[in-house]
Amino acid sequence: MIIVSITGPTMKVALMQMSASLQYTDMFEFRLDMIKDFNIPVLLVATKKPSIFTCRPVWEGGQFGGTEQKRLGILATACMLGAAYVDIELKAWREFQKRFSVNDCKTKTIVSLHKFKTGKCNPHQVYKLLSGARADIIKFAFQAEDAGDNVCAFEFLSLARRNRCKAIAIAMGEAGEASRVLYRKFGGWATYASAETGDASASGQIGARQLKEIYRADTLTRTTKVYGVIGNPLAQSKGVMLHNPLFHRAAKDAVYCRFRVKKLARFMNTVAPLLNGFSVTIPHKQSIMAHLDNVDETGRAIGAVNTVIRRSGRLRGTNTDAPGALDAIEDTISVRGKQLLVLGAGGAARAIIHEACARDASVTVANRTARAARRLASEFKIKFVAMKNLGGLKFDILANATSVGMVPDVNNTPIRRSLLRCKVVFDAVYNPPVTKLLRDAKQAGAKAVSGTEMYVNQAALQSELYCGAKPNRRQMKKLLGL
Ligand code: NAP
Repeated sequence: MIIVSITGPTMKVALMQMSASLQYTDMFEFRLDMIKDFNIPVLLVATKKPSIFTCRPVWEGGQFGGTEQKRLGILATACMLGAAYVDIELKAWREFQKRFSVNDCKTKTIVSLHKFKTGKCNPHQVYKLLSGARADIIKFAFQAEDAGDNVCAFEFLSLARRNRCKAIAIAMGEAGEASRVLYRKFGGWATYASAETGDASASGQIGARQLKEIYRADTLTRTTKVYGVIGNPLAQSKGVMLHNPLFHRAAKDAVYCRFRVKKLARFMNTVAPLLNGFSVTIPHKQSIMAHLDNVDETGRAIGAVNTVIRRSGRLRGTNTDAPGALDAIEDTISVRGKQLLVLGAGGAARAIIHEACARDASVTVANRTARAARRLASEFKIKFVAMKNLGGLKFDILANATSVGMVPDVNNTPIRRSLLRCKVVFDAVYNPPVTKLLRDAKQAGAKAVSGTEMYVNQAALQSELYCGAKPNRRQMKKLLGL
């Protein structure tokens, strides 16, 4: 079940939040502590779904600052008026039972525990505490720092499933996204989503529409295969919007999540064993290699992996950036025998240089930090040119593999327009899709190839590895809004 939290801050806004999210939710949670002028009878009439009434006190991360007598009284009133569920904090549970005799009501109880301090989490201990309350449903929410923390939610749910106990487990914060998406895989009773108006009741909440239509979280099962992207930060990652619809179109029972990973070794020991494959982005493209069973020749030559796939239980790394970039360039011009100038000496530059050499281009490299470019030149046996000497260099194709021109640095370019005396300019930067460099290239009479082409190519190769079939590139571009 997907539960949408209704947070107000007024009844007028709460009613708008409900109508905007109605089609994506199975149940509403009314956060009475956040709706200033809440009116329980009006909410009960207005809701077209079963509802949970919550009045979270300040001491449990909520906004209700009144007395416990008053707060528990509000929840008891919700019971009397016919609320389907009330959420009571574990610390207030005995008091609620003692003071209010709501046994005659049909309302079911959710007993909850919230842990806001990050750090060690003991799912067994928390499960014991919560299940001891003998409520209808138990709920554990804790702050996640790192994607590895999701394992605490998964273990908590697995324990509850073993004991046939209805349970909810949420790892709060951006790093806990997987716990909100994968709840059904681990036997969770429900997950929480934010209203379609964008108002969230807890950090890391995903919008109801995204949870239902992109992740299809309410249709996942124990056997659903899990894929994802690991990196930090991940705010710009578009993989979720691409791979989930591609799985759906390929009729593959799989889901693709974002894993914001800081501690790679811990993630590889805890969550990675649950994954069937994953994309790797900054800053883990190099460090991931030490955690894999094997890396293919392309990955080894580049010294970086952007895709990991599990085959017969073993993790294999590869790099789809390299063919992705060169295929994008070669859609316009064959690189064979051409002079290719690569700007940059980071991961993207390494990928482009390796693949361009493999396709028989004559490659020269330049970079802001000359030492890094010199090192690359000697490693790949290509030519080096100092940035200040670019004016004297003749080249057919320019490939920008620096991050210059990327959001928010959109008015910058790595090379002067007067130096763009070449046939084709490729920019690995894909955000924005048309950079200043590409605009300059067109004005200088060169053909411009956007980094979005490379992005689509590398993602298509990943999708082929994940789904076992080539995706439709036109559909992919549509999904990315290109
Ligand atoms: P990286 O390893 O961090 O390398 C960054 C490169 O940019 C280095 O050569 C660095 O030069 C240079 N650079 C950074 N700021 C600069 C500045 N102000 N002036 C001049 N040079 C500067 O990053 P990466 O992984 O190679 O990524 C590079 C770009 O490619 C990024 O924009 C990334 O988004 C893009 N990319 C695109 C795709 C795609 O699918 N289209 C895939 C991968 C990467 P120094 O050595 O002097 O620091």
